[in-house]
Amino acid sequence: MELNREINTPELPFWKGAIPLDSILLQGIVVKGFGRGSKDLGVPTANLDLSTENIEKIDHLLPGVYSGIVEFASYESNKDELLEKFGDNFTSVKLRSAISIGYNPSYDNTQRTIEAYILEKFENDFYGEALKVHLTHYIRAEANYSSFDHLIMAIHNDIETTKHLVELD
Ligand code: ADP
Ligand code: MG
Repeated sequence: MELNREINTPELPFWKGAIPLDSILLQGIVVKGFGRGSKDLGVPTANLDLSTENIEKIDHLLPGVYSGIVEFASYESNKDELLEKFGDNFTSVKLRSAISIGYNPSYDNTQRTIEAYILEKFENDFYGEALKVHLTHYIRAEANYSSFDHLIMAIHNDIETTKHLVELD
């Protein structure tokens, strides 16, 4: 399934539904998720570890998709690529990201996951890195799409929305 094929959804003006937030900062280590095919869809998501602090911070947030900014706070596992891409001061580089804060069916819907898709192509994985994830907008509710195509349309829309919403200074 191709993610970046043309999808025309003129009835969904992408900027209208987003709710701006006073930037909420989540910080954590990139951990292994369940590899539920997100890489196959072309949208790998960096899963943040669920520290007590992160659990408390997301407790009052609606499950759904957020737009925001990701910063790398370390470069242990993928140093060469990060240095090559962003140079020495890569920890101050801001990257757009679409972030899902949703219930994980694998935990009987009791535990949420924080998963950030960074709008940037990386050749290598970066498990173990420390990330800062700033949530700047709430863009849509979590949904259980019954069709794969609709899920792809939703993700495509999340990415377009994020491109337009998030300003990097
Ligand atoms: P998992 O279930 O282990 O999270 P994914 O299929 O979601 O597996 O892949 C996530 C991993 O892919 C991340 O932890 C990260 O190391 C890597 N990755 C590569 N490119 C990106 C990107 N653009 N955004 C997020 N993660 C990426
Ligand atoms: Mg993931």
